[in-house]
Amino acid sequence: MTELTTDQALYDVIIVGGASAGLTAALYASRRALKTLVLTKDIGGQLSLTNDVENYPGFEQVGGFELADKMKKQAEKFGAVIKFETVTAVDKQGEQFLVTSYCATCDMPLFRQKRVVVVGGGNSAIDAALYATDIASEVHLIHRRNEFRGEAVLVERLKSKPNLTIHYNSTITQIHGQERVSGVTLQNIEDQSLTELSVEGVFIEIGYVVKSEFVAHLVQMTERHEIVTNRHYSTSCPGIFAAGDLTTTPFKQAVISAGEGCVAALAAYEYIMKQTGRQAINVDWGGARG
Ligand SMILES: Cc1cc2nc3c(=O)[nH]c(=O)nc-3n(C[C@H](O)[C@H](O)[C@H](O)COP(=O)(O)OP(=O)(O)OC[C@H]3O[C@@H](n4cnc5c(N)ncnc54)[C@H](O)[C@@H]3O)c2cc1C
Repeated sequence: MTELTTDQALYDVIIVGGASAGLTAALYASRRALKTLVLTKDIGGQLSLTNDVENYPGFEQVGGFELADKMKKQAEKFGAVIKFETVTAVDKQGEQFLVTSYCATCDMPLFRQKRVVVVGGGNSAIDAALYATDIASEVHLIHRRNEFRGEAVLVERLKSKPNLTIHYNSTITQIHGQERVSGVTLQNIEDQSLTELSVEGVFIEIGYVVKSEFVAHLVQMTERHEIVTNRHYSTSCPGIFAAGDLTTTPFKQAVISAGEGCVAALAAYEYIMKQTGRQAINVDWGGARG
């Protein structure tokens, strides 16, 4: 997306998502000297669920989070700003877009010396749970699998926290309370047993799920909620570009998302230059174009 505003600042480009597509787009946009903001729930998205990527060119074997973290640092090196916030709405206002987002863990200080639940098993959940252990009196991490796929160092740090309990193979079936949260019901997905937990706060940190509903009123989408783009990854709404697994691309792979993120960022650059009456610097190395 281009020429967007948030509550605090005006950016040339706001990228939603900090995985292969978003971080590559951030690298290319910031290298074009565009003021670039990435709003994301996590770093790495789906790729952070695997420790074993063997098909990303240049890496014979690399952990998904490790690869994404390198992409993040590379984008930051060229000036991209990355914030851990969840986007809830995008609205078009003339030639600009207003992006609304919230930061889940920013509310954590309100739960000082209280009991909280963190839901999720990726790096965003592990980060949130670690942060919570420094603030809350008691932290319950709810994970629907029996092991974590996040970064090993973070998982070990997590397990050493005395005020943290990990509930493996579990999901939340109910959140209780009227005006405030008073507790949750957990269900063990193996034996279906139920456990009641008395807590004051619930933090959902399931980062990698792609939900594109917040742009559904602006862009053309398929019945499967995939965003339709052209070969420059422009959507039906001028100024909004989409790349990666959430588009109609038939193959969902990290290198494909990265490539699409690159094209989308360069197309956004050309769009902004045209909109602002400036001359785009030709980004090709030569050869046929059109
Ligand atoms: C277990 C597993 C193993 C895999 N192994 C491989 C492999 O070996 N090689 C390979 O090439 N591919 C692999 N893949 C596929 C690969 O992970 C994906 O193709 C790739 O991650 C897609 O990247 P993406 O940027 O399009 O989006 P995603 O990875 O889907 O990431 C979406 C990003 O958007 C963010 N986000 C979503 N909604 C919001 C919101 N509302 N506000 C802010 N941020 C939001 C998320 O936090 C995330 O950062 C694997 C996938 C899985 C699940």
